[in-house]
Amino acid sequence: MQGFCNHRPMGCQEKRTIVDIANPPQCGGCKTFMTNCTFAEINSALREHERFAVLGHVRPDGDALGSQLALALSLKQLGKDVRVWNEDGMLEKYSFLSRAELLTKPPSVPEDVDVAIALDTAIQNRLGTALEAIRSAKIWINIDHHPSNPGYGDLVYVDPTAPATGQILFELIKNQKLPLDGDIAENLYVAICTDTGSFQYRNTTARTFEIAAELVRVGVDVGSVSQQVYENFPRRRVELLRELLRTMRFEGKGHVASFRLSLKTAAELGVIPEDNEGLIDHLRAIRGVIVAVFFEELADGKVRVSMRSKSEKADVCAICQKFGGGGHTLAAGARIRGTLAEVEERVLKAICDVVDCNS
Ligand code: 5GP
Ligand code: MN
Repeated sequence: MQGFCNHRPMGCQEKRTIVDIANPPQCGGCKTFMTNCTFAEINSALREHERFAVLGHVRPDGDALGSQLALALSLKQLGKDVRVWNEDGMLEKYSFLSRAELLTKPPSVPEDVDVAIALDTAIQNRLGTALEAIRSAKIWINIDHHPSNPGYGDLVYVDPTAPATGQILFELIKNQKLPLDGDIAENLYVAICTDTGSFQYRNTTARTFEIAAELVRVGVDVGSVSQQVYENFPRRRVELLRELLRTMRFEGKGHVASFRLSLKTAAELGVIPEDNEGLIDHLRAIRGVIVAVFFEELADGKVRVSMRSKSEKADVCAICQKFGGGGHTLAAGARIRGTLAEVEERVLKAICDVVDCNS
């Protein structure tokens, strides 16, 4: 059994580490620790209650949407009354997911549920309007794989070693004999496939491939899913890439690459937020680049910053946390107040301080 130190208050620099639950070490910084709940505890909460809300983070990705639908479908098979809410609703690009129509924007009038479940959501307020739609919940469950997750909720299962929340859900479903059919398998497969960069990122383990194999056996059509996810982009996404590459710049001997998107360009191209998911990978793929950054001007006077790293030594989660954001060591983000030019300057300097651009 494993658990995690999950206390990272201001000033505590101790990273969450996997611990032996029989002998849990204390966090070196704050001297406290907490362990994950068990799958059995989550299972009891799922089976003993009736009204559920399955939630995921704003600006959802394949892991958030696939995980939400997978767990919701498993609960529906148990005969439960399930809401599946995301602030952004179902994205056009993921509308091929099995039973995608179940996932909707949250209602404006809050509702009472027995159990609210946050999936793939590092901090609770990244649930956005889906959080506001819960007037009351007897139990909050938090299932996630972000190391920066502080462990909010009554039943917390955060495993930063899992490459996707979908992988944790698969383990929960198998371990507790929850329903798993072809529709659920496809959603889990998309969650895992997208969050591992098609099984390429380093947190992809032998277990991830075993799970993928089992999902294929349950009925996932790999070729069809890959085509839907990777070969079905609207033309405007590539036109957006063309504009982004025009703004590409390099810092620090080519270790830091960035590009930016202004509101003006976004409006001219008619792009929607989901169009830019994954475009940052073109920067990370460049030889010599350690950190890739994407700056996106938002309508609310903030800039969305997205970062990717190729090296554990350049921990972009730590950099983003300095700006109020979070994420993973090699993929993180933040929303920072300021103009595009101001935020670019501050963030690139912070990255160069870490990457040591003079080396
Ligand atoms: P992306 O760059 O794809 O938007 O996000 C990369 C990772 O960073 C994701 O795991 C996401 O959850 C996290 N992330 C992105 N933006 C934010 C943010 O504003 N706050 C926090 N806490 N995490 C973020
Ligand atoms: Mn995820």
